[in-house]
Amino acid sequence: MLDLKKYDKNNIFARILRKEINSKIVYENNYVLAFEDIHPVAPFHVLVIPKGEYTCYNDFINNASQEEQIAFFKAVAEISEQNDLLDGYRIVSNIGSNARQMVPHFHFHIVGKKILPHKSMEGEV
Ligand code: AMP
Repeated sequence: MLDLKKYDKNNIFARILRKEINSKIVYENNYVLAFEDIHPVAPFHVLVIPKGEYTCYNDFINNASQEEQIAFFKAVAEISEQNDLLDGYRIVSNIGSNARQMVPHFHFHIVGKKILPHKSMEGEV
C-alpha cells in the first residue's frame, strides 16, 4: 500500500532530483524539474515534479508555498508551449493506490503528440 502520509526520501524521483539516477531532463528551474517518462505511452510523455518533498497533489496544494505552486503550474504551460503541444495534450496525476500511483513524489504526466484515447478517465498513464 502506497503511504502518502510520510515522504519517502528514497523514492525514485527524489533520487532523480539528487541526480543519483539519470533522466532525460526537458525543463528545470529553482522549483521544478521535468523529464521524459521511461515508459512513454505517447510520442511526448514528460513527468513534471516540484523540487520540494510532496507525496501527492493534495500534499502539494495543502503544504507547498504559493511560489512553488505558481512555478509548478507555469512550468506545465511553458513545457507545452516550448514543445508545440497546443494542438492537444493531456495532464494526468495519479493520487493513491486506487489510481495506481507508483511513485510517491507528486507529479503530473504530460502526454501529447498523438491523438489521445477518447475515454480520458480510463487513461493510459
Ligand atoms: P505514476 O503511476 O503516476 O506514479 O507514474 C510513475 C511514472 O514514473 C510511470 O509512468 C513510470 O514509467 C515513470 N518512471 C518510473 N521510473 C522512472 C525513471 N527512472 N525515469 C523516468 N520515469 C520513470
